[in-house]
Amino acid sequence: MTDYLTKSVTKDGMFRAYAMEATGVVSEAQKDHATWPVSSAALGRSLVASLLLSSSVLKGKESMTVKVLGDGPAGGIVVDADANGHVKGYIHNPHVDLPLNSHHKLDVGGAVGKGSLEVMKNQGGDEPYVSNVQLVSGEIGDDFTYYLAQSEQIPSAVGVSVYVNEDGTIGAAGGYLIQVLPGASDDAITQLEKRLKSIPMISELFLSKQKPEDILKLIFGEENIDILQNMPVAFTCDCSKEKFADKIRGIGNKEIQAMIDEDHGAKVICNFCESEYQYSEDDLKALLSKKHNDKKDDEHDA
Ligand SMILES: [Zn+2]
Repeated sequence: MTDYLTKSVTKDGMFRAYAMEATGVVSEAQKDHATWPVSSAALGRSLVASLLLSSSVLKGKESMTVKVLGDGPAGGIVVDADANGHVKGYIHNPHVDLPLNSHHKLDVGGAVGKGSLEVMKNQGGDEPYVSNVQLVSGEIGDDFTYYLAQSEQIPSAVGVSVYVNEDGTIGAAGGYLIQVLPGASDDAITQLEKRLKSIPMISELFLSKQKPEDILKLIFGEENIDILQNMPVAFTCDCSKEKFADKIRGIGNKEIQAMIDEDHGAKVICNFCESEYQYSEDDLKALLSKKHNDKKDDEHDA
C-alpha cells in the first residue's frame, strides 16, 4: 500500500491544491481499533482531513492534535498529525451502528452530532495554540473547510471520503484540500466550485486506481497545474513502554503502591494504536524508587 500526498499549485497562481490517497492509513486505523463501518468512516475522514490540514499549515517539527467533539454516538474523535505525513487517532465509540443517511451514505454526520472542532497546534512555544469552531455538519469535510476559513483565515475547500467494503475492510480513502490564494478571481472560484461538484467521490477515484496527481489534473486540467512534491503518509504511533512508564510515574507513589499491593502489576493500552504494555511488580517498584531522585515526572505524551 503506497499512500502519499501530492502538493501542487495552479500555473495562474490562484490556488494551492493538495490531494492524498490514505487507504493504508485508514485500513491501519480500522484494524487497530476494530471499527465498524460508520465509525471507520468518521475516524477515517478525520485522519484524512487532519493530515491535509497539518501538511498545509504546519512546518518542520510542528504537530497538531485535532478533536472532533460532537454529541452523537461516536462520542468524540482525537487525531494527532504532524507536518511530515505522520498521523494517529482514535474514536471514542468504534462500534457506532446507524442506518444509511438520505443520500444512501454512511451517516458520519449523525454519528458525530453537534459540537465543536478543536485544533491544538504545537509550534515549539511554551503553550500550544488552541482554536475552536462549531461543527457545521459533522460530515468532517465541511467542518475543516469552516475551520480553515474562520481560524486560519484561508478560504478553502476540503473534500474527504472513505469507502468501506461489504466485509467492513477499507476499500479506499483519501481527500483534497484546495486553498484560494489572494490573486484568485471570483470567476475562477465559481468555476472551481462547479468543478468540485461535478467530479466523482474521491474514494471512488482511488478505487478505480487513480493517483493523487490524476485527481489534481481532473480538477484543474493537466495543463494548468505544477506538481511541487509527493510526500508519503502513514498511520504511525510513537508509544513505548518507557513513555507510559513516565506517565505512571506521574500519577504518584501512593497510586503506584496500590497497583503493586492490589493488582501485582499494571497493564496500559495505548488509545491511539491499542498496543498493550505490561508492568510487573518489579517494573512498578523501579518507578517508585525513581520518584525520589528523579524530578522529570512532568513529561507526557505518547
Ligand atoms: Zn500507541
